Amino acid sequence: MFSYKGSFIIEYKFKALTGLRIGGSKEAFEIGGIDNCVIKTEVEIPEFYQVNGEKKNLPKGVPYIPGSSIKGKMRSLLEWVKGRVEEKIKEYSDNIDKAGWVCECGKCEICKVFGTGDANTLKKLKLEKQPGPPRLKVFDAYPTWDTLKRLQDALGEGIFTEIKTENQINRITSRANPRKIERVPAGAEFEGEMIFDVYKKDEDKDLIKIVFEGMKRLEDNYLGGYGSRGSGKIEFTEVTIKWRDKKYYETAGKEGEILIVEKEPLEEAQKKLIEKISEIFK
Ligand SMILES: [Zn+2]
Repeated sequence: MFSYKGSFIIEYKFKALTGLRIGGSKEAFEIGGIDNCVIKTEVEIPEFYQVNGEKKNLPKGVPYIPGSSIKGKMRSLLEWVKGRVEEKIKEYSDNIDKAGWVCECGKCEICKVFGTGDANTLKKLKLEKQPGPPRLKVFDAYPTWDTLKRLQDALGEGIFTEIKTENQINRITSRANPRKIERVPAGAEFEGEMIFDVYKKDEDKDLIKIVFEGMKRLEDNYLGGYGSRGSGKIEFTEVTIKWRDKKYYETAGKEGEILIVEKEPLEEAQKKLIEKISEIFK
């Protein structure tokens, strides 16, 4: 059965290689603005950054990436990779909504890592068939301090986004129908964290690998909206992975932590994890 063994702490930075657009709510936007705004912090976060030993606030109005956007995108890409979508298409050939819905089987590797799409499934499964607690937690990612400075130097105090105009052209009259979208400019760097809890060593040592497959797929896809027309290409630039055994929490951090990889590109981090995992879990 399940018993808590420890956690992988995954810290990362990623860079937007093209403009990034994660939609915010229209209501929060001022009158006369554009329709397509990006999600931003609604309040200042005090002492968020450590800059040369000094604490700095993260201002209000800064674009950020909700953990749900990262997690949801990785999950949907992985459901394709692992054949979950094909399964659902077979099962619900007469119902597009259901066939395209998130996996809710409660048995597959995706449901174990990301959670089961429907709580009712779990009620129907016997105890020994339960997927266990969703292993992965993905926290919101915020711009780095350098990015905040760089954006404001280029765009002006308190401005962190660009406005991009896109056109639809009438095929006959050639008249343009422009619309404006807000994006985080290319080059912006974000930092975030994921935590993967381990409950069954033999099974979870394979499940953790899926997280990195998902990150790699995300690099070759897009984050946020408008990916098919240029937005949302990202690259993980620095990945740090630590294993914290249960002992780490019992000894206030004195024992039980193993640094697997520090500030390496994604592929390097993934390689080292695969190399070291059996040693950690032996
Ligand atoms: Zn499933």
